[in-house]
Amino acid sequence: MNLFNVYTLNNITISRAHGSYVWDDEKNRYLDMYGGHAVISIGHTHPFWVEAITEQMNKISFYSNSVVMPIQQQLAEKLGKISGKEDYQLFLCNSGAEANENAMKLASFHNGKKKVIAFYKSFHGRTSLAVAATDNKAIVAPVNETDNIVFLPFNDEQALQDYFNEHGNQISSVIVEGIQGVGGINIANETFLQLIRKLCTQCNAVYIADSVQCGYGRSGEFFSHDFAGVNADIYTMAKGMGNGFPIGGIIIAPHIQPKIGMLGTTFGGNPLACAAAIAVIDVITEDNLMEAAAELGNYLMNELKKIEGIKNVRGKGLMIGFETDFPEFKNKLLYEKKIFTGDAKPNTIRLLPSLAITKEQINIFINNVHELAVELRK
Ligand code: PLP
Repeated sequence: MNLFNVYTLNNITISRAHGSYVWDDEKNRYLDMYGGHAVISIGHTHPFWVEAITEQMNKISFYSNSVVMPIQQQLAEKLGKISGKEDYQLFLCNSGAEANENAMKLASFHNGKKKVIAFYKSFHGRTSLAVAATDNKAIVAPVNETDNIVFLPFNDEQALQDYFNEHGNQISSVIVEGIQGVGGINIANETFLQLIRKLCTQCNAVYIADSVQCGYGRSGEFFSHDFAGVNADIYTMAKGMGNGFPIGGIIIAPHIQPKIGMLGTTFGGNPLACAAAIAVIDVITEDNLMEAAAELGNYLMNELKKIEGIKNVRGKGLMIGFETDFPEFKNKLLYEKKIFTGDAKPNTIRLLPSLAITKEQINIFINNVHELAVELRK
């Protein structure tokens, strides 16, 4: 049997990983500035995380959500504390798309309305409603098409205000990334998020903060939306949550009430995933990784701005984008300098390293970017 061929692959087989480094099967070492797509939050194979999962596996790996699982409550308490949303409620699932799907569905159950506002260049996942709310026609199948999603320009307060003025009573939810990732590292303006909050409150709509990529401390705040100083009604999470162990979740403001059977999942909230997620929060807290992300992110952006040929450096914490004049830059970083980075169309290089990356490793990256920019200018 062959694999179903849907991914553009780098011709590299990774066989080992530790911290911010990965090794291929020929023993070449690579610096991971991509974090396996923003997933590796505390570092590859972090020993505390490995031990927590192993210990849990030796006790019990799985039972269905038909029994009490104290480890879910432990995770909820830790999440409440680290995010400052102690009065929110946690629903656990398995991925970012599933988190957003559940968030939009829950919003609609809550207010009985149908329309969802999403924004240009958004990415919210590949399940039916999540993909319909994603601004990329190429990945929306005919069966996913729906009139319930309305796209507006990102950061355009007037367009948002106008749409609410006309259709406010039909809007169930507004879903927005605090920093658009796949869309190219575009930061939501604080006033834009404040307006979303205000209009949602006025019109009984639900403000959904998609924190799947920009959340979990990556920006220097636990949720990057919170720089705006207003709360969302639902925050969705996944990538950094389990440091590579699949887990997703939504946290839900207290005024949104659950009903038995309203949401559900087989695997979501399983003990292994919870053990992984708890270990991640413990390491982020113990090692002050949010503060480190803010500080090292600023340092990295400032250093990148000094390099001739590197343009439009932007981001927050360790979620950073920049551009160059050279389309081959990313591949040359990978194959010649042995550094993984991400990208975003048309020509953004995306940096999403582990929050535990060191200043020394960041300096290695900066030196290599500098060297490559000089080589390519010749
Ligand atoms: N939301 C955002 C902002 C994302 O970046 C992604 C994935 O890249 C998703 C949702 C979907 O997450 P998943 O691939 O875990 O379904």
